[in-house]
Amino acid sequence: MTSFAAVLIAAAAQQYFVTAGEGARDLSIEARIPAFPDRDGELSVNEGAEPFVSDVVIISADGSVPLERRGDSWFAPQCAEHGCRIRYGFALRRAAEGRDDEDLAALYGDMIVSPPGAWLLRPLRVTQDSTAELKVSAPEGVRFAAGLPPGVLSASSLGGLPYAAFGDLRVETIRLQGVSLTVAIARAHRRQSEEELLDWIRASAAMIADYFGRFPADGALLLVAPAPGKQIHGRARGTGGASILFSLGTELEIAQARGSWELVHELVHLGFPSVPRRHHWTEEGLGTYVEPIARARAGDLSAEKVWGDLLRGLPQGLPRKGDEGLDRTHTWGRTYWGGALFWLLGDIQIRERTGNRFGLEHALRALVANGGNIADRWPLRRALEVADRATGTKVLEELYAKMASAPVDVDLDALFHRLGVEEQGRSVKFDDRAPLAPIRRAITERR
Ligand SMILES: [Zn+2]
Repeated sequence: MTSFAAVLIAAAAQQYFVTAGEGARDLSIEARIPAFPDRDGELSVNEGAEPFVSDVVIISADGSVPLERRGDSWFAPQCAEHGCRIRYGFALRRAAEGRDDEDLAALYGDMIVSPPGAWLLRPLRVTQDSTAELKVSAPEGVRFAAGLPPGVLSASSLGGLPYAAFGDLRVETIRLQGVSLTVAIARAHRRQSEEELLDWIRASAAMIADYFGRFPADGALLLVAPAPGKQIHGRARGTGGASILFSLGTELEIAQARGSWELVHELVHLGFPSVPRRHHWTEEGLGTYVEPIARARAGDLSAEKVWGDLLRGLPQGLPRKGDEGLDRTHTWGRTYWGGALFWLLGDIQIRERTGNRFGLEHALRALVANGGNIADRWPLRRALEVADRATGTKVLEELYAKMASAPVDVDLDALFHRLGVEEQGRSVKFDDRAPLAPIRRAITERR
């Protein structure tokens, strides 16, 4: 019978019922927590959010009992043993004003951006298979949006959950062949209309769906926040879901927004799994490399522009003195352009070895089709393996083995010569007799 009871306990989910007060200044939260394997019964929130948690009590038949707090944690050994119900408050607006950190809580106009890990008080030690559910209700005039998948969450992923927001939001769902992207636009006075923004976002998401064979992260959230002047700045955040926090200057004309690269770059990030920090160059390199290609294929950029930017940009990605390879040299140049060079070389080699039948997009499509998107943590080796299998090559695994831990110099002049890309003033001109000209054309050809 003990094993049967254990199964029941494992199957019970943590449940959070979150009620936002007026203007989402404060959250009032009730949680049901099943027993968990920790003798001390330690509970906490993401680091830095502890000061904004208040009045934590355990609710029992005889009323409520305050929970003991020591340092940055609360302790409920009886809860760990038997499960319990707790109630507490979270000063969301004060956290946003006090911390001004989008990974904890931050204000954008009247919108408060705060990943749920900041305000979900939870057991720090849970079993791998334990799950959690989140229900959020907000008062009139306030909407809640989060990049969470439908249904249950993994309890161990609560700390890393994607961005979420409370505010006066226009929330729309964009559907791309059965996959959905939630767009939440914070209401603000801006030069662009919401319809114009939605059209642009729809077109950008379609470019990504095209390149990756499908929109890579179902249920992803794109939060559009107002920014001063003509600023544009984006950040993507997994895991356990997918999200982009996109700050867009209210003074930008829609044509300027459409001409910018940042939105498509952030959307590319959704199409690659979250990998350990030392491989950050794979994520940023992919964003740098795929963004202009996806736009060129949609007719948004000319092939000349794409190859000209690569010609001028890639030298910044070459190893300098003292370089120890991409996994160990975390400079800006090596992260963005060194990473882009890795993916360009991969793309070319896949095409060379498969007679131009397959390219990098086929490798990435297989990755995404196997669940390899930002919502999931993967070891990099597994991602490259799955990607390589789709093209019947070992191109990416071999390139990684070469470039990860040693400086690899690449003769870019020779490479561009073979591709038939020649610098001409501020632009480039193409030589279609060059040996790799068909590969160059296949990469940026308009679809
Ligand atoms: Zn990026």
